[in-house]
Amino acid sequence: MGSEVGGRLVNMTVFKRPDIRFPPAKKKLWHELLPNSRFLVNMYAAGSSLLPDSVITTIAKGILTTRGAPDFGMFREGAILVNNRGERFTDELKNPHQALAEQPEYQGYIIFDSKFAKKFSSWPCFVSTAAGVAYAYVQDYERDTPDIISKGQTLREAAARIHPQPDTVVRTVERYNSFVEKQGDTDFGRSPLGDGIVTPPFYVMGPAMAYIGITWGGLDVDSNFQVLNEPGQVIPGLFSAGRNAGGLMMMGHGLGLAWALTSGRLAGKIAARSVPA
Ligand SMILES: Cc1cc2nc3c(=O)[nH]c(=O)nc-3n(C[C@H](O)[C@H](O)[C@H](O)COP(=O)(O)OP(=O)(O)OC[C@H]3O[C@@H](n4cnc5c(N)ncnc54)[C@H](O)[C@@H]3O)c2cc1C
Repeated sequence: MGSEVGGRLVNMTVFKRPDIRFPPAKKKLWHELLPNSRFLVNMYAAGSSLLPDSVITTIAKGILTTRGAPDFGMFREGAILVNNRGERFTDELKNPHQALAEQPEYQGYIIFDSKFAKKFSSWPCFVSTAAGVAYAYVQDYERDTPDIISKGQTLREAAARIHPQPDTVVRTVERYNSFVEKQGDTDFGRSPLGDGIVTPPFYVMGPAMAYIGITWGGLDVDSNFQVLNEPGQVIPGLFSAGRNAGGLMMMGHGLGLAWALTSGRLAGKIAARSVPA
């Protein structure tokens, strides 16, 4: 809408490489259903500062298992990634995010066995994290999101419940295990290969998808959040903030949300001042 009235767009081709994430659960979390107003938000803030850390951790864990991203440590420790045809398509230890973005429907499945699952049931090996706040393990996913994790006494049984091509998954894992035995991945050159996927029960998690989570394109603004046109002049009455305002590129946990809140508040105040009384 901003560009239609002459706003200049910047950084429209800049984005962070894709992340591998599980798709958000369909069901809303209870705290997403809470009503929203200035008074209530202040109440929630005051209330949450009184809550014990264990309650905050439980809430955060629920967000992780329904909105989370599998940690790269899963591949480092021996899990493999297959596409929805059931085939491996990359060295999982080298930028699997980008490779997944090139697969059919951008979908992948993570496969491991019970020896691995035991390791990923407690610190320091976790499936997903909000760093420093909470960690979600295999059993948390089994409890909260059984639709994206399947366990079976045989690999075929585990795959059949959530993967469209269970027979290919079985063949792929047999081939991978042969690489582990020979200590050489002749398909993609992965090293190290881990311990193989051999100990029942077996697990299949997915689909996980390649998402572009962060883009940096948007409307060019001045330091008062006023939108600029092509020659760089202010378009009177038009303001932009948050991700919609292009130009500010930040990496790191929380900066996107912090900037959305801060710039939105500042832009709102400045915009309000510009309205004649
Ligand atoms: C998967 C993912 C993970 C992320 N993780 C983090 C993280 O860990 N930490 C962090 O700081 N940031 C993270 N970010 C980035 C962060 O979410 C964004 O920077 C932030 O939400 C931007 O806020 P915003 O208010 O500017 O825009 P948005 O949150 O995108 O809000 C824009 C709103 O406008 C609405 N809208 C759009 N068009 C119209 C229209 N025509 N009319 C009315 N409404 C409209 C949209 O529906 C939306 O609700 C993540 C982003 C993604 C996608």
